[in-house]
Amino acid sequence: MAALPVYRWRLAPDGYATRRQLRAVGLRPGGQEVAATLERPRRRREPLVAHLYRVDLALPVRPMTPGRWAALAAANRARRICPQCRRDAGYVIPTSLGMCTPCAFPDPCDSVRSV
Ligand SMILES: [Zn+2]
Repeated sequence: MAALPVYRWRLAPDGYATRRQLRAVGLRPGGQEVAATLERPRRRREPLVAHLYRVDLALPVRPMTPGRWAALAAANRARRICPQCRRDAGYVIPTSLGMCTPCAFPDPCDSVRSV
């Protein structure tokens, strides 16, 4: 089996969720293999590892309704909206920054372009 991608804690790509996150929106892994792992470093101990599953392969615990799909999409979208510029960053906003990277690290060229 190929090596699983490993992501840093809180930097998991969109479309992946832990079993607990799936459960929160009424989904379950549904027999799929673990798609990726998250590692959270811990001082003097083995890193805390979380298994990630693909949301698109997850199966509903109960039948999904359009409303529940919409809620899931909205939750994913909300995590990508930068609170600073209100734009969809296209990736989940890292909580360490609290904003998209252009807002966190303004590029002088960008401000010229946007004027
Ligand atoms: Zn921003």
